[in-house]
Amino acid sequence: MTEFIINNKTLILVISAALLFALETFRPLFESLPEKRIRHIFRNVMYSVFNFLIFGFGYGLALIQISSLSEQLGLGLFYNLFWPSWLETILILLVLDLALYIWHVANHKIAFLWKFHQVHHSDLIVDFSSASRFHIGELTMSAIIRLILLVLLGISLWQIAIFELIVILCAQFNHSNMRLPLWFEPLLRWFMVTPEMHHIHHSDKPRETDSNYCTTISLWDRLFGTFFWRSDIKNINIGLKQYPKQESVTIWRIITMPFRKKKRH
Ligand SMILES: [Zn+2]
Repeated sequence: MTEFIINNKTLILVISAALLFALETFRPLFESLPEKRIRHIFRNVMYSVFNFLIFGFGYGLALIQISSLSEQLGLGLFYNLFWPSWLETILILLVLDLALYIWHVANHKIAFLWKFHQVHHSDLIVDFSSASRFHIGELTMSAIIRLILLVLLGISLWQIAIFELIVILCAQFNHSNMRLPLWFEPLLRWFMVTPEMHHIHHSDKPRETDSNYCTTISLWDRLFGTFFWRSDIKNINIGLKQYPKQESVTIWRIITMPFRKKKRH
């Protein structure tokens, strides 16, 4: 089962994107958008293809090499604990998810990291395609942290692959411009990050951007006091005040964004 999921990762992500696209069409959270949807999705898909060509192959190779070396040496924590596989996997997924939360907070608090992370926040429409709009610099730094954790904790290649698939699926879901049923959203929000919750994170108000950092489960925001809620989601202005127009976030401009001088807020 695990092997089937990993081997068909791209197909699973395409099916998920198609489902979310349909739901965004029939149950939009934001109805009036500053740009045509197809054009916005096309730009984000082109940008993620560019990222994959530059970053994806190298990261994939590094992951395979480092994980097989780590397994041979058997130095990582879980290679020496001999705990049941299911318990080990649950703990590893939780630790990786907590690390992702801390990394996201750091991206907002440390000026150097924000230069790269602002690329993600400069999107003026947040939909499922925004889940893949990250600067290659941010992707590289987060990949290095994950590889270090892989060696220290003794994480297997398939455990990392499952975690990454869960993260991308959840990111597609919580970025989607889809309105969940009113009775269901508050319930789901207790356990998972909902589109409503994550759109608050993409608000142009600093108080709101600096909240709701979780990607999969909403536990860490609740535990560390970074959860924020407002019920009038439709009144949120999405994006960054310093990049208010579509012309300021073309593909070339988002690639070069970290190297240009602009004030944060
Ligand atoms: Zn963020």
